[in-house]
Amino acid sequence: MLKGRTAVITGGSRGIGRAIVVEMARNGADVAVVYAGNSAAAEAVCAEAVELGVRALAYQCDVGNYAATKAVCAQILADFSGVDILVNNAGIVRDKLALRMTEEDFDQVIAVNLKGAFAMIQHLMSALMRSPSGRIINISSISGMMGQIGQANYAAAKAGMIGLTKTIAREVARRQVTCNAIAPGFIQTDMTAELVEATREALEARVPLQRVGSVEDIAHAAVFLASDKAGYITGEVLKVDGGMYI
Ligand code: NAP
Repeated sequence: MLKGRTAVITGGSRGIGRAIVVEMARNGADVAVVYAGNSAAAEAVCAEAVELGVRALAYQCDVGNYAATKAVCAQILADFSGVDILVNNAGIVRDKLALRMTEEDFDQVIAVNLKGAFAMIQHLMSALMRSPSGRIINISSISGMMGQIGQANYAAAKAGMIGLTKTIAREVARRQVTCNAIAPGFIQTDMTAELVEATREALEARVPLQRVGSVEDIAHAAVFLASDKAGYITGEVLKVDGGMYI
């Protein structure tokens, strides 16, 4: 479905991003895996992608650092012949009630989750416009749509991503590039591990489909949005949340 295309996935070393890397590779896309610090995990997912018959390279880069994103995008464009798909998935949480949230907690989450996505889009936009089927997919969250106690920073960043998605969708549409967001609900990853263990039953009770989501639930949606089958969908926010926010 994605043979001959190159996908850049930020936060591709673990969790949802890792599953997106594997699903994109399974569907034939070459993959550039951007990660923060866990090089062993990034190399492992690249090895898995290579086993699936595609090219895969790992790139260390803090997406919250604008200059670093510029350098890594230039390197990716030098290593691959072009870029067709960008998945802005890298994200962090620094949860605290707003009253106790530090300026640093707020700034870090905005820098990585929101500004990082903008920076990657900006640096790869020309390449995406040259692709016959350019795709931008931003991993937002239902927290950005409904709010979440303890997540003033995170929900603001994720809501910001939705505004970013809709704006970029308008700006690149005439070049046949689409830009969409996926808003996951509760997905079992390192990010939610402690929370999920402590409150699994309470959480499941809040999900109409009565289970915590898997990373593959999100990866399948990302592959669909990246495919030709989604060519007439842009500026959309696709909730993948088991009905948690209906
Ligand atoms: P995760 O398991 O904590 O993995 C985070 C990934 O992002 C890792 O690959 C990490 O790289 C990378 N990363 C973190 N900070 C980075 C930075 N500054 N620069 C570059 N890469 C960075 O997270 P996850 O649960 O898979 O979440 C992935 C995305 O989905 C996030 O945007 C998150 O907000 C969103 N989301 C998750 C859920 C959920 O329930 N899990 C729900 C809604 C939305 P290293 O391995 O090198 O540390």
